[in-house]
Order: sequence, then structure tokens, then C-alpha cells
Amino acid sequence: MPDYMFLLESRLSPEQRAAMLRVQELAAVLGFNVYLTGGTVRDLITGANLRDLDFTVEGNPSKMARELEKGGAKVLSEDEKLRHVELLFAGDVEGSISAARDEHYVRPGTRPEIRWSTIMEDLRRRDFSLNAIAISLNPASRGLLLDPTNGLSDIEHGEVRALSIHSFTNQPVRLLRALRLAARMGFKLESRTQEWFNLAIERELQLTITPEDAGEEVRSLSREERPQLILKEWEEGDLLELVHPILAKKHPGYDAINRLIKVRDDLYMAGFRPRLATPMLLAIFSRLKDRELSNTLSKLGYHSAEIEAIEKFPEKALDIQKELAGKKTKTPIDAYRYIEKIPMEYVAYLLGESGNSAAFLHKWRPVRQALPIVATELEALGMPRGPKFDQIVQDVFAIQLNGRAKTPEERVKILRKLSGIKEPPKKKEKEKKPAKAEKHVETAAEKKAAAAEKHATHERHKAGMKAAAAKHKGKK
Ligand code: ATP
Ligand code: MG
Repeated sequence: MPDYMFLLESRLSPEQRAAMLRVQELAAVLGFNVYLTGGTVRDLITGANLRDLDFTVEGNPSKMARELEKGGAKVLSEDEKLRHVELLFAGDVEGSISAARDEHYVRPGTRPEIRWSTIMEDLRRRDFSLNAIAISLNPASRGLLLDPTNGLSDIEHGEVRALSIHSFTNQPVRLLRALRLAARMGFKLESRTQEWFNLAIERELQLTITPEDAGEEVRSLSREERPQLILKEWEEGDLLELVHPILAKKHPGYDAINRLIKVRDDLYMAGFRPRLATPMLLAIFSRLKDRELSNTLSKLGYHSAEIEAIEKFPEKALDIQKELAGKKTKTPIDAYRYIEKIPMEYVAYLLGESGNSAAFLHKWRPVRQALPIVATELEALGMPRGPKFDQIVQDVFAIQLNGRAKTPEERVKILRKLSGIKEPPKKKEKEKKPAKAEKHVETAAEKKAAAAEKHATHERHKAGMKAAAAKHKGKK
């Protein structure tokens, strides 16, 4: 069996690894088997960005959630009936823990009965083979891959394969999911899955997708890296109507989406990882009037507080823009300190809407360009990571933003000064030589001693031989 532990070691961020270890520990204490499952394993294998950690336990995760909360994790939502908890672990790590469950459909398309189950049954009830894979996190089998429906092979072939002929009948929302996954990964639907898909569309099963299920898809869409690819697929398949007829009629804001993606890529390059769900949602729906947007979101099951936050987002971004154009953020370091405090999603939104944010860009650019590789340089000097390390990085940022420490040499000098890590003096190299010479003397002395010892042994040996020969003679 292949060992997938190395994938976890290399692909998880330190914060994600810490979250995984905590979940593993808790599961062991409570006596539950625990697995990393679904999208997380799929993304680990394909090398895609690991957005969140989905765990499945053979047991009830609510106790684990309580313990995790004590340790500072935030429970974002909890479905007691489904035994599913969405969490935000320390370090901003998104994740979920679900109880392993099987779904039994008395007749295709009816509501399933839920039964708590083993991981294998849980994997088999999932939507597509590439999502039905798990990695064990249990002490005796850590790193073992569980792949009961051969998802790995489908990933290799670039195919999305549904796990049952009733897949779309049982959950029509999987029509949207299938296209979303295929578009995201550049995969195609496996041939039989494509037939089942076509059959479902012929029977107009898409019209039975509930608005809430469609809403969940929209939520996922707004977190996608390239939502435009998915929207195009939905549009071509006449499925956009399901999200909202107005969106189908007015079309998604492809231009706004593309601008935001360009900004996101720039921010990534500068070392920022903004969450873009809200600005992306606004970009997707940018052709809708305010009223149309709130009606659509409400129909899709967004809560009123969420809708309000989404509606207010542009106003808040504009306030920030005003601050940035003002005196308080005149110098690059002041601008940087200000930007550092505001959520990056606002920065991304403003840059995306750059048509009216020239002042912002003017200030932002030098700040961004000055963002250096200080942390890497400090690490190379041998400074361990920790609060002092972070403080030094911050200090050097500030120094740089004021126009100093531009060359690597200058930076290293400053880093050495702040960290107290001294340059190995050149003199020392010379001092080392006598040490080597001393060793030589020692070796020579040792050699002498060894030679003397060898001689003595030889003499003893000769004497011994003589004595033995004499004895032998005597016996004869
Ligand atoms: P993403 O990267 O968008 O989070 P994901 O595959 O993790 O992708 P989730 O919606 O987080 O998607 O679902 C987690 C897992 O739950 C999936 O990988 C899949 O195994 C299972 N799942 C989700 N929705 C369905 C569904 N409608 N039917 C069956 N299984 C599902
Ligand atoms: Mg997921």
C-alpha cells in the first residue's frame, strides 16, 4: 500500500499540520477512528491548493468540536442531525469534521435515511469517485489510502465519475457539482456519467434542485479560483437559470471576475492570500442592480445578516480608499501600516475596481514593490522562527518602506544587527589553521605511539612463538 504521509508532511502549511495533529490527538483520546477525506485528499493528490481540511470520524464529532473550541478554534456552523461541524482552527485554517454516515434511499430521488457507518460505507455514498478517497490518520495505519471506488485511477485519467446510476436522481444538485468539478480541474465527465447526466437533463431533474442547494453551489463558486470557467459551463448547459433567471439573462460579470483574478495573482506574488468570497460574489453578480442582488441572495438561502454585509462591502471599501488618499497615509510606511490592518479582501476589491482607485494604486504600488524576501533572508542567517523573528521582519519592512535597505547586502547587514547574529569573522578562519596543525601533531604523536605499540606486540608475539616452539619440542 502506498504511504501518503509524505504528501501530508509536504503539502500542509504549518498551521494546517497543527490543526490536523490536534484533531488526530482528540480522536485518539475519544477512541474514534479519524480520516482526512473528500476534497482535501483529492486536492492533495492533484497538487491543487489546499483550501480546507475535511475530516471524517467514526463517532460523533460534537465532543471534539467542544474540545477544539476550548483550544481557540471557532465553530462556524454545526448540524447536529448530520453530525457535521464547520470550523476555523487557529491560524485561520478552515476545516470540517463529519461523522461517517451511510445514506439509504428507499426509492431513487426520495429523502435518504441516514445511518452512522464506517469510513468505507461513508466513502461509497459520496458523489464522485475522485471525492470518495480518504487517508487514515489512525496510529496503526497512518498514511494509508482508502480508495474503495478507484478514484485515484479516475484522477489519473482526468475524469469525473458518478458512483451510481441514481446519482443525479438522488441529488440533482450533483448536476451543478459535476460541471463545477470538471471545469475546475480541466476534467471531462466519464462516458457513462455523461449519459446519466444527459438523461437527467432530458427528464428535467435540474428543475428540482432546491434554491438552497443551488445557493450552496454559489457559495462554493465564489470561493473558486477560476469561477468564470464554471459559470461558462453552467451557462452552456442552461443551468445558470437555476441560480437565478436574472443572472442567466444579464450574464455573469466576466470582466469584473477577470480583473479580480488578476489582482489576486498580484497579491499572491506579494505574499498576501486574501479571502475573496465577497468581492468575487459581487463580481459574479456585478450586472445586477442592488435590489436584484439582495433578492437573488435571499432566494439562494443567504441569511439577512450575510446579505447586509455583502451589500455594505463596497461602501466600506470606499471609506478605506478615502483614508488611503488622505494625509494619514502619506508616507509608504504609514500606508503599509494602514493596509496591514485592513482585511485584504477590501484591498483586492478596490484594486479590482481600479477605474476609480488611482490614488490608492499610486500608494499601494510602491508599498507592494517594497515587500521583500526578508523572512527568507533572516532564516538563511540561521534565526529560528518565533515572535522575535516576526518583529525583526516587521522592523525591516518599515526600514525598507522608508527607502533604505534596498540591496540584499544592506538588508543582511541590518538583519544581522537586529538579530544579533554576527558575521563569522574572517580572522577566525586563520585561527582555525593552527587548530588543524595541532591535530596534525596529535596524529603524528598518535602514530608514533601506535608504531611503538605495534613493535611491542610483535616482540611479545615473537617471544610467545619461541616459547610455544620450545614447549612443542619438549613434548616431542
Ligand atoms: P471544495 O474544494 O469545493 O470544498 P469539496 O469536494 O471538499 O470541494 P465540499 O462541498 O466541501 O466539497 O464537500 C466535501 C465532500 O463531501 C466532497 O468531497 C464529497 O465527498 C462530499 N459531498 C459533498 N456534496 C455531496 C453530494 N451532494 N453528494 C455526495 N457527496 C457529497
Ligand atoms: Mg471541502
